[in-house]
Amino acid sequence: MIIILKQGVSTREIADVVARVEELGFRAHLSQGEERTIIGVIGDERRIDPAVFEVMPSVDHCVPILRPFKLASRDMRPENTVVRLNGVRIGAEEVVIMAGPCAVESRSQLLETAFAVKEAGARVLRGGAFKPRTSPYSFQGLGEEGLALLAEAREATGLPIVTEVMAPHDVPLVAEHADILQIGARQMQNFSLLHAAGESGRPILLKRGIMSTMEELLMSAEYILTHGNFRVMLCERGIRTFETYTRNTLDINAVPMLKELTHLPVIVDPSHGTGQWRLVPAVARAAIAAGADGLLIEVHPRPDQALSDGGQSLKPETFHRLVLEARRVAEAVGRKL
Ligand code: PEP
Ligand code: MN
Repeated sequence: MIIILKQGVSTREIADVVARVEELGFRAHLSQGEERTIIGVIGDERRIDPAVFEVMPSVDHCVPILRPFKLASRDMRPENTVVRLNGVRIGAEEVVIMAGPCAVESRSQLLETAFAVKEAGARVLRGGAFKPRTSPYSFQGLGEEGLALLAEAREATGLPIVTEVMAPHDVPLVAEHADILQIGARQMQNFSLLHAAGESGRPILLKRGIMSTMEELLMSAEYILTHGNFRVMLCERGIRTFETYTRNTLDINAVPMLKELTHLPVIVDPSHGTGQWRLVPAVARAAIAAGADGLLIEVHPRPDQALSDGGQSLKPETFHRLVLEARRVAEAVGRKL
């Protein structure tokens, strides 16, 4: 349930309502918007009696949140959450492009890609150090060495870093190096990892599971939010369907649907969503037109030599063209890029 306070209530009155919520054995989540202050009451919805709060002079009215996700719900926070890092604002007017190699392979590969994507207009550098691979015989990533290279690339370019963390025990290490922790599609329901990500206090890029519904994605986000970490971005990266011509089926519906259901920024990954570099620019443009707050794109200077996902990686010059075209779409739908 959410408690909507009257306009112009004092800090003292807000604290009184929060205290009452906690006294009754619930947790209170305070959200102070420009227009109004709302307090989310977190706990067993059936046990919450709105009348208890509606008698308080500072309370305007109460609204039940019927959806299973509460903190992630737009009812709880009507305005968009904006994730801020190093001057980049994700979830605001600008469509933010995160780009880089699927995996960090070497110092030269990473730095070459990092400078190229920055030059083309990327605002965040991606690159995996811990890689979730289907086969144990495939390249698994450089691990800690990869993290150090990412940190070096950040120093050199000024771009914040997003990189995947696969295991709860790696969260402190990855959080030490990265600006955004990526939780991959295969880990979306690793609940221990979600708790650890919540505790890290770092912004989180949470990717939709290969076979997960939007509601399951939002419930996973809810795990992170319950730790008070609200810097969560959702990522549509394609789901598995009966279609075989593309690696995954990018669910474009998820963009406007999630924007309606949640205040969290929505990022689209057309690289994994299609699995083919030729399709990436068109799907990237579609994502922006549908309302995406950002894109996650794989770029490699020599895709034919890539140790992972070469077939869906763009060469820097193709990426550059993508950004120019995407900018025109962004402007057409009232965004900046
Ligand atoms: C990736 O971003 O390289 C990746 C492994 O993504 P996903 O978890 O969506 O497959
Ligand atoms: Mn990849």
